[in-house]
Amino acid sequence: MKKGLFLSLSFFWSCFATALASEPVRVSTFSSVLTELAQRVGGSLVTVTGHVAAGSDPHEFEPKPSDLKVVSKAALVLLSAKHLEGYVGKLREATGGKARFVEVGAQMPSLWQGGEGGRAGEKVEDPHWWNSVGNMRKAVAVVRDALADVLPEQKAAFEVNARAYDLELLELDKWVRSKVAELPRDKRKLVTSHDALQYFAKDYGFTVYPVAGLTSAEQPSSRQVAELLKIIKAQRVKAVFAEDTVNPKVLQQMTAETGAVLGGQLWVDGLGTGEAASYRGMFRHNVNTVVEALK
Ligand SMILES: [Zn+2]
Repeated sequence: MKKGLFLSLSFFWSCFATALASEPVRVSTFSSVLTELAQRVGGSLVTVTGHVAAGSDPHEFEPKPSDLKVVSKAALVLLSAKHLEGYVGKLREATGGKARFVEVGAQMPSLWQGGEGGRAGEKVEDPHWWNSVGNMRKAVAVVRDALADVLPEQKAAFEVNARAYDLELLELDKWVRSKVAELPRDKRKLVTSHDALQYFAKDYGFTVYPVAGLTSAEQPSSRQVAELLKIIKAQRVKAVFAEDTVNPKVLQQMTAETGAVLGGQLWVDGLGTGEAASYRGMFRHNVNTVVEALK
């Protein structure tokens, strides 16, 4: 009798140990920012596949069959949302309803782009929520809760990781505020080659004058360009920013006709490369570039 109990107990413990040492949770992300976030909050308990590489254009991304194969094995799929992933139907189909989908950006209030001068006055949701550190901190809580739903027995570990990462973001936000404070309010004007910095502008008191529309593929009309030239001259904007190479001609025209300089490259569509390969590094790079050029 006693021996039988011992055997069943040891069987129980071996099952428990197997569960503890089980495969990490498979997470698929469709934003380089969310890849870092999932890795930091999930730690060794997750295996994260970032389908959209750092430095690539998320507006142009389309999942390949190899992506769908990985997604079909995922337990959790993290999306930027706000209409950035037009291919989400394909992903849901690939998982056959087995994975949990979390639209991280849907948890944050939207800013809107377009309207006047845009496509027939149509307003569209601005997807670039990660350019606000405050939004990123909300995203940490969303991903923490999503991971705890998938792996409830590791809730405490996810909480510890999330707290540590959030503390880093809080420090980053403080640094950004002190750096931006070097720039007088009347100099906080951003002329960029695509409208991706509204969330950043709202947090830190900038005004944005985008050259193109929502996506990097859109080209401005000559009327839009003429209006911008007027603004740059009237507001005495010292620098304009090219975050991609889509509209170098327009930017060159602006610098030639207004005397403003090209202020350097910004990473606005997610993580970049080199010093911008981490969220903190990307944000610091952008803030340093903006402040130094507009001073
Ligand atoms: Zn963008």
